[in-house]
Amino acid sequence: MWTAIVKEFQRLCADERREGIIAAAPLKSVRLLPEQNVYLYRKIEQRGWDKDNTTAISLGLAYREEEMRYIPPEWVNSKPERSPWNHYACAYRALNRALNLISRTLAEGFGGIGEGATLEGLVDQVAHVRDYYPLCVSHRSVAEAANLGWRGKHGLIVTPEFGPALRLASVFVPGRIDSPARELRGCGECRACREVCPVLDKGWNEGDLDRYREMCRRRIEALGLEDEVCGICVRRCWEAVRQD
Ligand code: SF4
Ligand code: SF4
Repeated sequence: MWTAIVKEFQRLCADERREGIIAAAPLKSVRLLPEQNVYLYRKIEQRGWDKDNTTAISLGLAYREEEMRYIPPEWVNSKPERSPWNHYACAYRALNRALNLISRTLAEGFGGIGEGATLEGLVDQVAHVRDYYPLCVSHRSVAEAANLGWRGKHGLIVTPEFGPALRLASVFVPGRIDSPARELRGCGECRACREVCPVLDKGWNEGDLDRYREMCRRRIEALGLEDEVCGICVRRCWEAVRQD
């Protein structure tokens, strides 16, 4: 089954002319917030599956190199004149749409539940980042459990292949499916993302991740690009992982 899923995923990535990575883990190893568990378990129960015998599949679809270079390499408070930053916002949107299609197609093909890349268009409608939690699963938690990548010091998933330069989606299928082990090196002594971003540098607190996420959300909202992005820490981390 895993071989068939990977083959179909690779075909769908090729259709989008992008590279992707995929990994799986038992659902019970995925650490979701209580609100996210309620959201997902309701769907699983509706299908009559056993949540203790369900597999979570993490999908990553990568940005192209030129798309990463649209992001400013250093911190800026607002969009500089003539900056191509909005092209990165467009790439973000294109990746989300592609992942929504890929997750839906895989779910339909393998009898699963597909969870798309993002809840687009909600940034203006939510009063706080916590408002997202009952509406989705954390693709980062699925990716972490599946060992697709490690949780970086910016809170995003970092992969050996693409650093953090990818978008994530998830598919859940009944039964147990194992995927090959992946070697992850972790951040080590690197602090590049914290050094480039004042939100990360001042706002990060392991005991209060909501605070940092909320500061980041407000920064993205204030930036006002054509989609809900900033990405400066992503570019810096992508460069750091490539240099390593
Ligand atoms: S920039 Fe460095 S410290 Fe930050 S997430 Fe990437 S590898 Fe980790
Ligand atoms: S996306 Fe958020 S954490 Fe990353 S550089 Fe921008 S404000 Fe900082």
